[in-house]
Amino acid sequence: MSSVRLGVGSIDEEYLCRQCNTVLPENKVNKKTWCCDSCGDKLLIKIEDTDHRIVRLIPSEMNRFDDVFNYYDNEFLELKGVIEHDNGKEYILGVAGYGSYKVKKNDFIDCRWK
Ligand SMILES: [Zn+2]
Repeated sequence: MSSVRLGVGSIDEEYLCRQCNTVLPENKVNKKTWCCDSCGDKLLIKIEDTDHRIVRLIPSEMNRFDDVFNYYDNEFLELKGVIEHDNGKEYILGVAGYGSYKVKKNDFIDCRWK
């Protein structure tokens, strides 16, 4: 069985707000929300390891139609489910080809932008 490491990237990223049609310099990026401070839209992020844009979501913003980026082997994996756990303090993600993966409610996960 393969390994999964979900989370966020950190190096060589580009941050774009489509609504404002602006590329944000890193020091203008709100890293608590990963949203544009001007309009509130989710930022589209170009990370080093894929040509697809990603969005940074917490589990309550995700659903089973999202694809998560696996930093272990730099590929997207399909979600099969997002289940609240421990009174919403944690979430269990069902990850295709892997199984369940537990995350905290405030953990940002890089997902494929669609
Ligand atoms: Zn904006």
